[in-house]
Amino acid sequence: LFGRPWIFIRGVPAMKFLPPEGPAEVAFAGRSNVGKSSLINALVGHKGLARTSNTPGRTQELNYFVPDGFSGAEGDLPPMALVDMPGYGYAQAPKEQVDNWTKLVFDYLRGRSTLKRVYVLIDSRHGVKPNDEEVFALLDKAAVSYQLVLTKTDKIKDAGVPRLVEETLLKIKKRPAAYPEVLATSSEKGRGLDSLRSAIITAIQR
Ligand code: GDP
Repeated sequence: LFGRPWIFIRGVPAMKFLPPEGPAEVAFAGRSNVGKSSLINALVGHKGLARTSNTPGRTQELNYFVPDGFSGAEGDLPPMALVDMPGYGYAQAPKEQVDNWTKLVFDYLRGRSTLKRVYVLIDSRHGVKPNDEEVFALLDKAAVSYQLVLTKTDKIKDAGVPRLVEETLLKIKKRPAAYPEVLATSSEKGRGLDSLRSAIITAIQR
């Protein structure tokens, strides 16, 4: 799956625009600027797929990506989709935008039976922030399995990575829907991408 090209199929600003449920989905969430677009692009080996954006918090859509080469007709559906969730935690976001985000995301999390796992990205330099904790709580409440992924590990010392992984694990130890393993990645250096790809393949087979 990760060997072939991927394409963008649609942006979903509200539940009624979701594609019909079918292929297994995994979604990516994280604070604005956490490196989510870069990670999605690195995962599928396609630089321009997810837009790396300079205007954090602007797009309030669930962006759907699927592997290319399937007609979409019955019996020829893509076997999975990646869903890029809108970034959160943008300090300048107006309250209305934050409320929209919460509604869209919570409706999606609660209502999407084909959603197998959410990868919540955490910037290695910043660690888990209060708005990440709010998202963990949302995921626990919706009972959607999630796993934390550290991004930009090239920005910290190699020797600090195992400790950061341990510290991050402690933050989710008591959280019911959190998967008890933290992945460390760097899109820039290509680190941890194979582990994340394997984790995704395992998650969609659940
Ligand atoms: P998004 O807002 O979460 O989609 O974040 P982007 O993917 O647009 O990345 C935000 C910024 O972090 C950009 O300046 C990227 O170049 C940078 N960035 C993303 N991933 C990495 C990484 O693995 N290492 C480093 N050093 N910088 C990164």
